[in-house]
Amino acid sequence: MNQRTKRITARTLLVIGPAVVATFAISFSLRWALSMTIDWLSWVECLAIPVFVGTPIAVYIFVQAEKLQKTHDKLELSFADLARAHERLSFVASHDQLTGLLNREGFLRHVDEQRDRSEGHFLLIVDADHFKDVNDRYGHPKGDEALVKIARALQYAVRRKDIVGRIGGEEFAILLVSVNKDEAMQIAELIRRQVQCIPWQVESEEAAALTVSIGGAEVGRRRVKFPDVMRQADRCLYEAKRQGRNRVSFEYVLTAVA
Ligand code: GH3
Ligand code: MG
Ligand code: MG
Repeated sequence: MNQRTKRITARTLLVIGPAVVATFAISFSLRWALSMTIDWLSWVECLAIPVFVGTPIAVYIFVQAEKLQKTHDKLELSFADLARAHERLSFVASHDQLTGLLNREGFLRHVDEQRDRSEGHFLLIVDADHFKDVNDRYGHPKGDEALVKIARALQYAVRRKDIVGRIGGEEFAILLVSVNKDEAMQIAELIRRQVQCIPWQVESEEAAALTVSIGGAEVGRRRVKFPDVMRQADRCLYEAKRQGRNRVSFEYVLTAVA
């Protein structure tokens, strides 16, 4: 007898037992009240009716209940699988496959959520210097490896609460949460130095150091649109490139339109 049959038998006995007792109690009380005789047929009736009528009904109900429970368990498993698949899909949709950082959409969404929570942040745009040359000289796979190393260096240099994303090919963005300008510049400098110190060898030869240029801008209050902040940080990044690369700039020169 398997577990399922044992369960159904036990439940059926639990129902039929009290049914037999109840039938005896009702039938014998009535017979006694009506001054009817209690013969052997009364005993057979009180035992046989609940057993022969009740047992098939009870078995049917408990078998159906078991089937329902099984379906419910299967549904719960499918639901857990679906939840896991959904989690995985939303991770893939918001992260960059190469570096594991947030992608552009993921980064912007996290920034939006952070701006809802608090104010006083700085945005850094970090762009790898002369990255086309890295690819041309060492090949695209080595370039990919360099991007992964840069991504790790950025994550290492910032604090846990900061948000790091890869927003373009060799371009990264960082939201420094709740910092003033001096603190933001210190972290940006740390990032720049951290990247410059990345051990970077190609075919066991020491290769030219990887460097990045960084532009920074204050994120400002909620009503300041984030694309405007990004444009400002981009202008500062351009300034850092213009000044010779491998540097940080939080300022840019306004060029007069002729
Ligand atoms: P600059 O210092 O002015 O930023 O020069 P740059 O060469 O880094 O900039 P440019 O925009 O001319 O070139 C960017 C290069 O980055 C070209 C492109 O092949 C490379 N790149 C972009 N995405 C990837 C990637 O996923 N993997 C690799 N290996 N290279 C990439
Ligand atoms: Mg570049
Ligand atoms: Mg670029």
